[in-house]
Amino acid sequence: MTKKFGIIGWPLGHTMSPTLHTWGFGELGINAIYEAWPLEPHDVSTFMERVRTEPVSGASVTIPHKRSVMEHLDRMTDRAKAVGAVNTLYWDGDKLCGENTDVTGLVAPLKKLESLPDSAIVLGAGGAARAAIAGLQELGIDEITVSNRTLEKAEALATDFSVRCVAWDNRMDESPGLILNTTPLGMSGDMEDLTPWDADRFPTKAVAYDIVYNPLKTRFLREAKTAGCVTISGLEMFLHQGLAQFKLWTGRDMDESGARKLLLTTLSS
Ligand code: NAP
Repeated sequence: MTKKFGIIGWPLGHTMSPTLHTWGFGELGINAIYEAWPLEPHDVSTFMERVRTEPVSGASVTIPHKRSVMEHLDRMTDRAKAVGAVNTLYWDGDKLCGENTDVTGLVAPLKKLESLPDSAIVLGAGGAARAAIAGLQELGIDEITVSNRTLEKAEALATDFSVRCVAWDNRMDESPGLILNTTPLGMSGDMEDLTPWDADRFPTKAVAYDIVYNPLKTRFLREAKTAGCVTISGLEMFLHQGLAQFKLWTGRDMDESGARKLLLTTLSS
């Protein structure tokens, strides 16, 4: 029987997840399909019943459902509990489980660095920032600061994860080893010309990590590179969160470099 997977979100817009997983199933000869399922917030309960009855073999979860699916699960991983959000539904026997592979995705390129920075600033305080802070703490980066346009949200996040918080207007006074953008500033469209960091304020030898991946080379990353920083594109996070989902669902490893090539081609077309 063909296994059914998909992604829920609203508005779902364009997502590369179907491209990635469909390619992976094809490469490994797995009899499965992966579809895009736009889902309005008031339909989450009905969808979560369908997951059990149809059944759906697994699903990716994106904005705004990462928290609302949680109450419908039998079990959550410790990591998903720590983040307080789920981006992956999977089955463990007859138990419907929730995991957060955004954390896996976020830490993967950091693990490949020659040495880990010992301090970091996380720009933004939304869902991605929660995954980012959980990931940095998993890596053992102790000195973490969060900064956000809306101060109250940064303060709440700082309290949840016991990290420092600085006002958005004061972020340039910081001199961290890692600058991690989790805001949509720099994303293609209206925000493409924007950046969350001043070009002349990159600390020497800092790592600049942008979780935005479209465009691949955001203004933030271009200016960081010019300033001599090591740069990491959000494509790496997207790729690795997807590889981790695929492994949970199939027990198999998707070919990393083939998948990267696929995403790069898709993005450039
Ligand atoms: P979210 O929960 O909506 O949070 C967005 C954050 O960005 C908020 O803290 C918001 O600040 C801030 N922000 C928005 N517009 C801003 C502006 N003009 N100036 C300054 N700050 C601004 O979204 P999210 O789930 O965290 O996702 C954030 C970004 O990460 C999105 O672009 C998403 O596509 C990307 N993402 C990438 C991956 C990946 O795999 N690479 C994974 C997840 C998410 P306020 O609190 O003041 O509104």
